[in-house]
Amino acid sequence: MKLNGRPLLLLLLLWILVVPTGIVYLLVTQPIPEVNWLWVGLSVLLGFLSIQFPVKYRGSSIILFSWFTLPLFLLYGLSIEIIVTQLIVLIASFTNGELKNIIRRILFNSLSYFILSISSASAFYIIGGEKAITSFWFLSVCVLVYQIVYSILYDWIFKLYRKINHNLKRETIKETILHYLRMIIVVPLSLSLYFLLMDYGFIGYVILGLPFFFITIVIRLNSQTEDLNESIKTAGEIGKQLTALKEEARVVNLFMSETSDMFHADYVYMFKNIEDWLEMTHLLISRRKVPVIEGQLLRGQGIAGKILLSKKPVLYSKREEWINQSVKTAPENLESLLCIPLVRNSKIEGVLILGSNKVKAFKDYHLRILDLLSSYFVIAVEKARYIEEAQRISDRCELTGLYNYKIFEQRLESDMEMLNSGVHTNLSVVMLDIDRFKLVNDTYGHESGNEILKQLANLLNQMIPLDGLLARYGGEEFVYLVPNSSKDQVLEFAESVRKEIRNTPMYLYDDLANQRNRKTIHITSSIGISTAPQDTDEAMTLLRNADRALYIGAKQAGRNRVAGYQK
Ligand code: GH3
Ligand code: MG
Ligand code: MG
Repeated sequence: MKLNGRPLLLLLLLWILVVPTGIVYLLVTQPIPEVNWLWVGLSVLLGFLSIQFPVKYRGSSIILFSWFTLPLFLLYGLSIEIIVTQLIVLIASFTNGELKNIIRRILFNSLSYFILSISSASAFYIIGGEKAITSFWFLSVCVLVYQIVYSILYDWIFKLYRKINHNLKRETIKETILHYLRMIIVVPLSLSLYFLLMDYGFIGYVILGLPFFFITIVIRLNSQTEDLNESIKTAGEIGKQLTALKEEARVVNLFMSETSDMFHADYVYMFKNIEDWLEMTHLLISRRKVPVIEGQLLRGQGIAGKILLSKKPVLYSKREEWINQSVKTAPENLESLLCIPLVRNSKIEGVLILGSNKVKAFKDYHLRILDLLSSYFVIAVEKARYIEEAQRISDRCELTGLYNYKIFEQRLESDMEMLNSGVHTNLSVVMLDIDRFKLVNDTYGHESGNEILKQLANLLNQMIPLDGLLARYGGEEFVYLVPNSSKDQVLEFAESVRKEIRNTPMYLYDDLANQRNRKTIHITSSIGISTAPQDTDEAMTLLRNADRALYIGAKQAGRNRVAGYQK
């Protein structure tokens, strides 16, 4: 809830107008009767405890303290109930949540519970309820009405709170049901406490309070085990998805968004270990990818740097636990942090930090689950890298880095289909073979021959036509695939390639000479071309035609020339 400046002032004014004024008015009109102060004190204490240990189930908590305050209302009237409730709420506001927004939290809670007390009491009085009723059935009806009004308002206030908070999370049906179901506990318990107090006095707190807190704790423990089991299952599923991916970038993206979801993290920071210093590689804020914060973190520097040093996961529950260690300006609202090293083969590959704007957002077991997830992640990254590398190698020639014959043929087939379906107007194959290359090898050695092939590959690479493709077809044969140019244009292009090769000096070291001198040589090439659709409309025939043009039209005619296929 961003209530600073004017909205806060407004809330303060509203609070002054309603709460203290209302309490003074009540005290004047309904002075506090003679009460049993032990009961009042116990109600405050137990009410406070039930806020500290709410019944928690699967992330939703039900606050049930009103069953300790309602009997006071039934016994002594509204003024004492309001004062006790306000006291409980005040103490609870101090002990729960961040200190930073304490004022607005106290004001909002105090105002909300004041409205709850007044409205439900009004409903109670309207249907004829009064102090110290002894008829069980009449009292039950009155208490039920009181609780219905209480629950409706509670649910509304909860929704309002979410709205002012700009909390995008919509209230779930489950939560709404819980807000009403609390009646099942509050109505019988408060009625029982009321009658027990009337008949047996203070022992009523012991008879009902002890089992209540016992059950609360059992539910909580059970819910934690279920949460843990659920998390392990989810982590396993995410792990499976991660290891099925074949690209590193997708593995990283999925891992970050899934962890952000699973742990309700507002921030996910990923750092990469470069050489014992860290660099931020990815940043997610509210599930959205944003530019990373530039800069380096040395070992031991900042929170991530400390993880690199200690190699141990760390959990922080609130801002003041880590803010002194942070070297960058941390987001204003950031409170809880979950930090783990990303370890592969006992080497730290990086550091992952999840952040939440909530205090105590993460539990110890979250750290273990995140650790489990990160081991899936690290394996998935390694596998994806391996696949990508294998893919890259199988697509390209190792010496020149150009596409290989396999890729060329695939593209030739698919481009020919595009030609036949009218997407391309023309498709040409330009096949090139170095003249007398054997002589280069024989004179300077095979290594030097390789150097020439690499330089030629670079040269040809710079001349690829638009939408075209260049591949190393065989030993010292290269091939261009040129779509959408006429045969004349392609002849012209081939001619310019031929001239460029002839005019470009190539360098090599003479491997066979006694001294490794750098030498400059010139090479020439013969080129054959064939164009579809005029020469053929079949992929392999187009290739064969270009080859034939190369050997018959260019090589046999004297080399260092370009020849078009002739039928
Ligand atoms: P031409 O094409 O003009 O008829 O004569 P050439 O000497 O170039 O003959 P051809 O194309 O038949 O021979 C290819 C030679 O290229 C044979 C081989 O020594 C050499 N060669 C093929 N692949 C490689 C390679 O990867 N590295 C090196 N260094 N040489 C290769
Ligand atoms: Mg050859
Ligand atoms: Mg040759």
